[in-house]
Amino acid sequence: MTVLKGASFPVVGAFNETLVLDAIRRSRTGLSRVEVARETNLSAQAVSNVSRRLLDRGLIHEAGSKKTTGPGKPPTILRTEPSGAFAIGVHLDPSVITCVLLDFRGAVVREVRRRPPESGDAAATLARIADGIGEITRAAGVDPGRVAGIGVAAPGPIDADAGVIVRPPLMPGWAGFRLRDDLEQTLGMPVALTKDVTAAVFAEDWTNPSESPANFAFLYWGTGIGVGLVLDGSVHAGATQNAGDVGHAVVDPDGPVCACGRRGCFGESVRPRRLVTEALEQGVLPASPGGADLSRERVDHLFRLLGERAGGGDPAALAIVDRAARRTAWFLSNLVALLDLDRIVFGGPSWAPLRDRMLAVVSAELGGTEASIVESIALASSAVGDDVAAVGAACLVLERTFSPRSALT
Ligand SMILES: [Zn+2]
Repeated sequence: MTVLKGASFPVVGAFNETLVLDAIRRSRTGLSRVEVARETNLSAQAVSNVSRRLLDRGLIHEAGSKKTTGPGKPPTILRTEPSGAFAIGVHLDPSVITCVLLDFRGAVVREVRRRPPESGDAAATLARIADGIGEITRAAGVDPGRVAGIGVAAPGPIDADAGVIVRPPLMPGWAGFRLRDDLEQTLGMPVALTKDVTAAVFAEDWTNPSESPANFAFLYWGTGIGVGLVLDGSVHAGATQNAGDVGHAVVDPDGPVCACGRRGCFGESVRPRRLVTEALEQGVLPASPGGADLSRERVDHLFRLLGERAGGGDPAALAIVDRAARRTAWFLSNLVALLDLDRIVFGGPSWAPLRDRMLAVVSAELGGTEASIVESIALASSAVGDDVAAVGAACLVLERTFSPRSALT
């Protein structure tokens, strides 16, 4: 295991530096110094000084000059330097641990997956996380001094102050385990812990910064379902960092019975295990050799199969997917109207199998809604893919280190 001791990233302390970095980062093609001054309201002299410091630190580079028709020297374009900083993201899931190394533009440089130990033991799991992180940093040959830190995304609820996952489902050995502090001690780097749905919105903002709207929700499809929120341009994590727990919002009074005792909770009505069970009961999918007891891997496999059947036009498969989509649309119509959102982004490890049909049905359902806010909502599929929580955990680290929003708090 590589131990990354003594990594001390040069923190961008000055607020103006974070402002200039943010403006350059959000521009797809880079900005001239004059454009940076206009975007940030800083003086030309201040922009010149700040850019010099950022260039010296290797966080931005000069990327040619802008084509102009007028007289005088064409202005030089400033862009963020991908190798200027890195961050590590970890998604801790009951069935797989994903570790990614991200560059300063949010691109995945390296990635590794590890199975958690069968025992579910927290200390043994932590050793595998450390091992995975060691492997990707070693393979990438990245200077540890350029790694800003480690972000860990986990299914909630979390105790953000203590750096602990509270009563994690399917991971009993983790209750009360000091994940953040122990990982910091093992790897000698700052560690941030966040919920997977919150991580997902950071991923969306950092990997697609020029398109990121001010008010959007990320509908995260994993083992269960959750919502990440950006409101007025800021990620909304909530009073205890546990926002987005939408699993028990009732979407169908005649829906399936939930563990909470009520019928038709959103999470229970649309989660992969439920849809797969319905498909098995109705003979849409071949009976499982293991009987009714479905392993997580078996659910994932059958869920992909259900998506394929629906995509191929199987009416019984379509009926199951369409009902889940209508229940999703019902939930979203309430959310969008309540919060006045610009856009809904869908993603997460269980999103891909149902994507096309789900988007089509949800779009049609919301389009027929009377409220104009809901009717005109933009729907999108996340470009980040299955690893959005791991990528987002790394983006959280970049956000905390380099963004003017974090510099203010
Ligand atoms: Zn419930």
